[in-house]
Amino acid sequence: MDKILEAVMMSSYPNNVKQGLVRRVIEAIKQPMDSEQCWSMLELSTKLYLMGDTKFKREIGKEVLEVYGHYHPEEFEEFFNVRFLLSLLQEGYGPMGKRSPYVLDYIHLGLQFVLESPSASDIFSLLRIEVLRKVCERPGPKQCARISKLLSQHPQCVPTGKHQILFCQQLIRCIGQFQCISEGEDDIMEFLDHVNKVSGLLQKIWRAQTSSILPSLKELFTIISSTEEQEAPSNALASVVQYVPLELMDGVIRNLTNDDSITDVQMMTAISRMIDWVSWPLGKNIDKWIIALLKGLAAVKKFSILIEVTLLKIEKVFSKLLYPIVREGALSVLLYMLLSFQHSHEAFHLLLPHIPRLVASLNKEDSNSATSCLEQLAELIHSMFFRFSGFPDLYEPVMEAVKALPIPNEDRIKHLLGQNAWTSQKNELACFYPRLASKSDTGKIGLINLGNTCYMNSIIQALFMASDFRHSVLNLTESNSQPLMTKLQWLFAFLEHSQRPAISPEGFLSASWPPWFSPGAQQDCSEYLKYLLDRLHEEEKTGKRIYQKLKESNLMPQAEERHYLNKTLIEKMFGGKMMTKIRCLKCLNVSSREEAFTDLSLAFPPSNRHVRRQSHAAVLPVEEIGPQIIEPPIKPQSQVTESPRRQRKHPVSGEPPIQLLPIETVGFQEAEGQETPFILRSDRDHVSLEKVKDPLLAFGEQTCGSEDSRSVPDLINYFLSPEVLTSENKYHCEKCASLQDAEKVAELTEGPHYLVLTLLRFSFDLRTMKRKKILDNVSIPLVLKLPVLVASEDSGEVCQNRNDRAASCNGFVSVVYDLCSVVVHSGVSSESGHYYCYARECTSTSASSQPRDGAQKSTSDKQLDFEIQWYLFNDTRVSFSSFESVSNVTSFFPKDTAYVLFYRQRPCKQSWAVHEAISDAVRLHGEPSPSKDLMEAISKDNILYLQEQEKEARNRAAYISSLPKSPLWWRDFDRDKDDEGSSGGCGPAAGGGGSGSFHGLVF
Ligand SMILES: [Zn+2]
Repeated sequence: MDKILEAVMMSSYPNNVKQGLVRRVIEAIKQPMDSEQCWSMLELSTKLYLMGDTKFKREIGKEVLEVYGHYHPEEFEEFFNVRFLLSLLQEGYGPMGKRSPYVLDYIHLGLQFVLESPSASDIFSLLRIEVLRKVCERPGPKQCARISKLLSQHPQCVPTGKHQILFCQQLIRCIGQFQCISEGEDDIMEFLDHVNKVSGLLQKIWRAQTSSILPSLKELFTIISSTEEQEAPSNALASVVQYVPLELMDGVIRNLTNDDSITDVQMMTAISRMIDWVSWPLGKNIDKWIIALLKGLAAVKKFSILIEVTLLKIEKVFSKLLYPIVREGALSVLLYMLLSFQHSHEAFHLLLPHIPRLVASLNKEDSNSATSCLEQLAELIHSMFFRFSGFPDLYEPVMEAVKALPIPNEDRIKHLLGQNAWTSQKNELACFYPRLASKSDTGKIGLINLGNTCYMNSIIQALFMASDFRHSVLNLTESNSQPLMTKLQWLFAFLEHSQRPAISPEGFLSASWPPWFSPGAQQDCSEYLKYLLDRLHEEEKTGKRIYQKLKESNLMPQAEERHYLNKTLIEKMFGGKMMTKIRCLKCLNVSSREEAFTDLSLAFPPSNRHVRRQSHAAVLPVEEIGPQIIEPPIKPQSQVTESPRRQRKHPVSGEPPIQLLPIETVGFQEAEGQETPFILRSDRDHVSLEKVKDPLLAFGEQTCGSEDSRSVPDLINYFLSPEVLTSENKYHCEKCASLQDAEKVAELTEGPHYLVLTLLRFSFDLRTMKRKKILDNVSIPLVLKLPVLVASEDSGEVCQNRNDRAASCNGFVSVVYDLCSVVVHSGVSSESGHYYCYARECTSTSASSQPRDGAQKSTSDKQLDFEIQWYLFNDTRVSFSSFESVSNVTSFFPKDTAYVLFYRQRPCKQSWAVHEAISDAVRLHGEPSPSKDLMEAISKDNILYLQEQEKEARNRAAYISSLPKSPLWWRDFDRDKDDEGSSGGCGPAAGGGGSGSFHGLVF
């Protein structure tokens, strides 16, 4: 039979004729035959299979072999014996020892027929050794794929114990040498298929035996970190990584980045090669591993590696976005690389020339993948514009390219930047090494205390968080004539852009130092604020006008403009006006005077007075405001004056009261119709009405409960209430030409954009000759209404519009203010203690639509109040906070009392022009862009900071490595006693049990 078959095969008949003849032979051999016949047929078919020079011959060989396996199993078993297989594997086929590439396929084919035979276990153990020997010879992708196919189907043949580890490592070494020689599509597909088979085998082995994973990874890292090999290892290694369970990632990265036996050069080499893996198609999780290692390096402050590798690779990663098959991974690596590289614009600027072309090409592609990529790219680009503003010439073509794409909002950008910065990567050791502290999660930057300078730090943070003011300061371009303002601009720019967790305000302190302050001693923060604002105001007044530009661009209506342009920035932001009227009680002549202020200092009313006014005033309608006393101001003053402090005398009862408009808090649920702002009454009525519905007001309720407690509106009402000048305070009446009893009252005539309120807690006690502090808790409303007297032609207009939030009548409008900042003083005297600041950023962004529809607007404002994040600034520490915390601070810490408050005027018709101009200024520039000089100074300081951190971290690492060694992650596996054969029960999916062996490795 074998002779016939051989003759047929050697004949020159066409294949279809041969095929017919072979069919008949195959039918014949299914019949019983003697073992000698069998043997020679098996020999022939083996020869055809292994040595056949055509595919046809090999196919026939295979077919015959299968017939024998099925129909003559005993003979087949006898033929397919261990010794024969050993010689095949070790010496090759036949007496000449010919090497056949098909040996493994042949064995794979035969194995299925001997699985149940007695010799099976011998064959398995032979193969366990032989496959290991094979992979040590570094076969190419085809052979490795054959081995992998065989072992995947017959896991009994996978080496065990230490051999298994070695096998995995050698297999990874093989993959590291895989190269796809041809560039034809079929060849590439075949190459990818081979690689997937091999890495698929690793996945199977790892699943069954998790203890093989770490040694495999160690080998992988050794390969990619090697600086000796001439040729870079194959990117096919990327395919290995996708099968490493993600739950191992943290531990692996942590150990890797903390291992001081890995040199910088090795780490640099490894991470560069890993980044090249983004060009490997089909791999999953590769981007995650790359990003994890980058983050790990940031956590241990290896910034020099990160800088170098980012600048080296970023263009390459970017170029991969062109290819849909690798786009997703490349994009996520690119996003991380750029968003984390925040200390300088260098990396982003490398990409600028390439962006327009890529965007054009993605637009042309018009696929879902391209669209999603474009959107993410646009978000990234806008974040970079935001971070590194001030290069309009470079950015213009890019801006043009992405103009049709959506622009992310500022919060989103800040979130992205805050989350990804190197300096915000957590380091588990940071708590032991405070100098390695990472930037606050809030993204806000603290201020270093230079020795009792918290009074200043709190004020700077409050000013910084007054975003309209901050934007204006950052936007100033011609500030040469304003040295202090320029210093403030630098300080603000650093607070916005520095990578440091906290910066030192030393330069600003020395420039803004009130000369009478004694160095190193605690000071009154309110005094400092007043001094600072006054200095800034005077500086601008004497210097160059900065609003020349606004005037030219004609952003404001003519009348508004004149008024507005004459003001300094400080006046525009903090300046308000009030009218003081004094009425001689003899001749009833009234003299009035308008004063400018930048803050109101609020005295505490005596408690009996407090009660009187409440009951007395509650029934007085607003109409009783004596119209005869309203007269034009005598002498308007333009300069910012000291804030009006008023020392109160005891009220004279039975006096015809000069009526005033009350201050009140605004209930959020308040309907327009219920508003009764012109009847004097306590805001508490409001509070108690709403307390069940509104959690915010409930806080107010809480602090308003006791008889002694006061609220900010109480203090303002007291401030605005009439004062009688009598006995030693008698007033010199010009008409009477003598000292007379008189009544004095103050009315606000212009509400400042930011209303600064100082609670006069420090009083001089004449008995003890000491300054003492009033520790009363004062409840602080989130929203405040302030009565402002407006000129009559204005009020008529406003009055018509009852929906306008600033409802008005008889010359008064209620201007609504939102709480922005609360500076808290902790301690019992102004010369001691500590200051810290609660603040949130109130902006007009959510109120950017004109407030024409009052009802709708107030709904969005309600949400706004709850949504705006509060922060707590305590020198270098910045943390998230809440209004609840602000409200309760004094009840928890009786010496910690609110001292200086910042409120921001809600845009209304009256103030709209100002708001418009401010937000226009911001909109024009995007986020205010510091000058190039300033940006460069910040970049320089950021690099310096990264270097300091890195040095510190390295000193620490050197210290740790001098300690007795703890086992490192790959050294550890040697100690694991081989648990051969314990397959099963160790699956990684089983409740994290798979990584259990790993947790012990973390030192
Ligand atoms: Zn008089």
